[in-house]
Amino acid sequence: MFDENKILNLSSFLEDEIAPTVLGAFLRRSEYIGNEYIFTYFSFRSSKFYEFCENYYQDYANCINQKSGIFPYWQLNISESNDPIYISSKYKGVYILKNDLDIELSDEQSGNNFTNRLLNKIRRQSFLFDYAMEEERKDFLRGYLDVAMSYDGSGFFACDYHCSSRADIRKISLLMDHGLMNPEYFNFNTRLTEDTTQKDDQFRVSWKYYLCEIGTYNKYRMECIHASDTNAAELTIDENSPGIYYFNIDYVALSPARRNEKTQNFISKYNAFINMAYGYRIEGNQDAETLRQYRQLFGMDDSNNEDRRTTRNQRIVSQVYDDEPDECVCCKNRYNIADRSFYVKRRVNGLAVDKYFFEIHHAISFSNGQSQYTEENVLDVIENLVKVCPTCHTCMTAKRGREEDIKILLNSMLDNSPKVKDFAEGYFGTTDKEELIIKIYEVLH
Ligand SMILES: [Zn+2]
Repeated sequence: MFDENKILNLSSFLEDEIAPTVLGAFLRRSEYIGNEYIFTYFSFRSSKFYEFCENYYQDYANCINQKSGIFPYWQLNISESNDPIYISSKYKGVYILKNDLDIELSDEQSGNNFTNRLLNKIRRQSFLFDYAMEEERKDFLRGYLDVAMSYDGSGFFACDYHCSSRADIRKISLLMDHGLMNPEYFNFNTRLTEDTTQKDDQFRVSWKYYLCEIGTYNKYRMECIHASDTNAAELTIDENSPGIYYFNIDYVALSPARRNEKTQNFISKYNAFINMAYGYRIEGNQDAETLRQYRQLFGMDDSNNEDRRTTRNQRIVSQVYDDEPDECVCCKNRYNIADRSFYVKRRVNGLAVDKYFFEIHHAISFSNGQSQYTEENVLDVIENLVKVCPTCHTCMTAKRGREEDIKILLNSMLDNSPKVKDFAEGYFGTTDKEELIIKIYEVLH
């Protein structure tokens, strides 16, 4: 049986001040019981990494109620089939509204349905327009994401959306239009293939970003990550926002250039996403050429199918080769390049010319960057690439060069490449050069 005192009238929900967390949760998922009730829910199942998830449902309800303003009405779902309100046991905790206005909740033809009313209410919230209301914006996002997202095993929390539903497309547009999805850490997984055109799409958020910056009500989620990753940091509770768990870890901050690149990429995908949703999914313009173009745009084209986590990006290698001066960042202060390398033919502006041969080296070894943060290798970026002569490159390979020689080369590299020094400082979170040398050496492959 549900606690009747914790069922909110729809009239009150629409007129009164409702906490951003609750609005976010209803925006994400609203289910109807006949035409009498609406509920939203949280739900999570036991992970293979850690059992006992049922011990955490009450904690979740307590946490989310602390961020649910004047109506902390989340309750565990303990209903039974003969109760007046019965809700399937797959919904672990619920927040119930009673349709006292007697509107047609799900009537898509009517502008008066629940989704439209909800969207209209949310669109009047000042936190959507006022970026300084950071806490409210985070509450809203947490309400939206936290209640129903799952860890996808590759560094992301994934949220399904119904790609053929106009309502779902409008909801996601609302998040994007108001800057609630940080393009550095969100992306789309369209799952659009010839075979599975009806499979739900997903948008995804980097779990490290989420658990450091947004925080979760879900202690169980933190326990699973602890159990699956012994390097995971301790969880902390924000004293100022009781009920929210954070992980106390650093995630890689992107350089301004890289951030700009990500933002541009996200915006173009956003445009494509809207076109795809309306054109391909909803209007049914499902010709093969359109499908091929979308697949290509979302990096799903078969000819462009390399996994960026494990395959070096040749485009940036060429860029560094062409753009940076012909000198070895490790030994240029001590040797003439003619004593360390040799001429090879290289194409410059269409002409084959003799140029000294260099190798492009990942300052922090590539294999450490297989990403928990993005689909790409976070170390396969221009900021982490340097030009070195073949001799230095050979020496700077694990188990080949002597430790003292490698450390001398790393020292020169940091002196001669401010770009790499900046990047490594951000990556390792220290500006102490000796410490950087040790850390880069320790992860050398
Ligand atoms: Zn060299």
